[in-house]
Parts: sequence; structure tokens; C-alpha cells
Amino acid sequence: MVTAIGIIGLGKITEDQHLPVIARNPAFRLAAVASRRGMRAEGVPSFRTPAEMYAAVPEIGAVAVCTPPQVRHAIAREALAAGKDVLLEKPPAMTVSELDDLAAFAAACDRVLFTTWHSQYNAAVLHARRLLAGETVTRLAVTWKEDVRRWHPGQKWIWTAGGFGVFDPGINALSIVTEIMPQPVFVAAADLAYPENCDAPIAAALRFRTVAADEGLTADFDWRQTGPQTWDIEIGTAAGNRLKLSHGGARLELNGDLDVERPAHEYEDIYDRFAALLRERRSLVDAAPLRLVADAFMVGRRLATDPFHD
Ligand code: NAP
Repeated sequence: MVTAIGIIGLGKITEDQHLPVIARNPAFRLAAVASRRGMRAEGVPSFRTPAEMYAAVPEIGAVAVCTPPQVRHAIAREALAAGKDVLLEKPPAMTVSELDDLAAFAAACDRVLFTTWHSQYNAAVLHARRLLAGETVTRLAVTWKEDVRRWHPGQKWIWTAGGFGVFDPGINALSIVTEIMPQPVFVAAADLAYPENCDAPIAAALRFRTVAADEGLTADFDWRQTGPQTWDIEIGTAAGNRLKLSHGGARLELNGDLDVERPAHEYEDIYDRFAALLRERRSLVDAAPLRLVADAFMVGRRLATDPFHD
């Protein structure tokens, strides 16, 4: 079965991943794109709105929504109502309530809804989950520090309310945490540093707890890191095991020895999973990482820091 797919939003991640990965996956055929700015993809028609795309190319069976999160709910709902299956870039919606609504609406429309969390699609992450099953985690240190000017140049939406700020990358770390932790984590406290001229944080320091541990569980997100970039998660267990996931989840050390290292293959695996979900006519909706971000905003203290200029 080959699914004719449309892409909505032709920004950085569409160019970097969705277009080349779809082109290489025989389960999909790119049929059209919808771009507010009128951007084009080779060999297929481009429309200013999804509605125009659905009217002109009715064979489209699925869409990938690659816009910023603020507009995702309305776009996804429109797609589901038009009878399309939907793949959502992360974060899958701006709020948890919006995502709940999409899940219910997709079920009511008998459509497949797929929330993608690309960082989960790493062999080292899957192996870490297997290693931690049945263990009690006593230490968790997430360090996710990168240079926003390098990874998000000129992206104004990311600094507006609902744009997530440093939680845009931070939610990737949280998607690994929710995937591998044998016990659920709760946000106990959060310090959120907002540049004076922005409506989203540039840094966040989180403290977690679980039913088994009250301290020693933290996440440190910072967008002001120049030089080497850090995407690490370190874990200690009651049985004395030490795990270190690094390079965003591509590499795993167990007790100081290299255990798994596989170059990123995230979007290839995402589209293979989407093809399987379409065959099985099954949705996959995971709200856990989004819920942790919502909780951090709910319990967070707001701190002011230097203005940010791109
Ligand atoms: P981006 O470069 O700013 O692209 C987003 C695109 O969405 C825009 O270029 C625009 O394309 C479209 N769009 C539709 N409505 C919009 C609106 N109201 N405001 C701004 N753009 C709007 O962003 P991106 O980096 O591709 O990120 C898009 C999503 O993918 C985000 O949720 C992000 O977290 C996720 N993501 C990004 C990366 C990455 O490395 N950049 C990695 C993984 C996931 P048109 O003019 O063509 O409609």
C-alpha cells in the first residue's frame, strides 16, 4: 500500500528531514504541499492553504503537520475532518487539552493520529528502556544545552507565548525520560528564565520526584551554550547501575562502558512506524512529554534575564 501524503509547513524540519525521508520510503508518495509563503517541493503542486490542497488533490490520504505548535490543533482538526490520517511533528499541540481533543476527534473520525517524538527513535534509547525495566531510579540528571542562534535562527514563533522557548529542545529530552523511566516522574519545581523582551523561557532548571525518590532528579535546559553542545541524560539506579545517554540519545554507556552507538535514523524510523500504523489503522498518541512541560509551566517560578536579540 502506497499512501499519497501532503506536507503542511515547509520550514527547517520539512527541508531537513520530512522531504528526503518521504522520498526514500516506498510506503509513501509525496502528492502535494501546503505553504503559507508559497514554498515549493520538487515535482509536486504547492497550495497556500491545506483546504486548497485537499480540494485539488483528493487522493491525499495522510498529512504531516510540520508547522509551529500554536497552529497545529486547528490544522490537524481540519485534516481529520477532511478524512486524512495525520502525523504531528513534536510538540503535538500547544496544550494538553488540544491534544486530548485531537485524539478523541481522530477516533470519532476513524482516522489514524500519530504523535511523533523523534528523540525516542534511537537504538540507545530503546536499549536504555530495556535496561531500566524493573530498576528503581535514584538519580537523573538531564543536561540539554545548545546555542539557539545556531539551531533556531530567525524563528520568531519560538519566543512567543505557546512557542515553548527552551522547552522546544527540552521536550525532546523529556520524551526520552518518559520513554525510559520505569517509574513516572513528576515536576516538583521549576525555575524558568525569561529574557526581558520575550514571552518564552531561554533556560529552565527542573527538579523532579518519583514515588521512589524525592531528590537527585533534575533537568537543566539552556539555550545560551556556545561551543560544544550538550544533550546528555545520566541515570543511577538503586542496584548501582549507571547509564549515560549522550548525543541526544544516539549513544549509551552502561557503567562507564560503551553499550550502544548508532547514528541518528530518527525520521526513517518515524515514517516506518507511520506506515505500520496506517496498515493497522491504529493511532499512537503519547501526551506524556507535553504534560511534563505543561506541569513545569504550572509550578514554575518566572525569573527575568537579559534581553535576547537574534
Ligand atoms: P520553521 O523553520 O519556523 O518552520 C515552520 C513552518 O511552518 C514555517 O516555515 C511556515 O512554513 C509554517 N507555518 C505555518 N503557520 C505558521 C505560523 N503561524 N508561524 C510560523 N510558521 C508557520 O520551524 P521548524 O524548525 O521547521 O519547526 C517546526 C516544528 O518542527 C516545530 O514544532 C519544531 O519543534 C519541530 N521540529 C523542529 C526541528 C528542527 O531541527 N528545526 C527538529 C524536530 C522537530 P510555510 O510558509 O511553508 O507554511
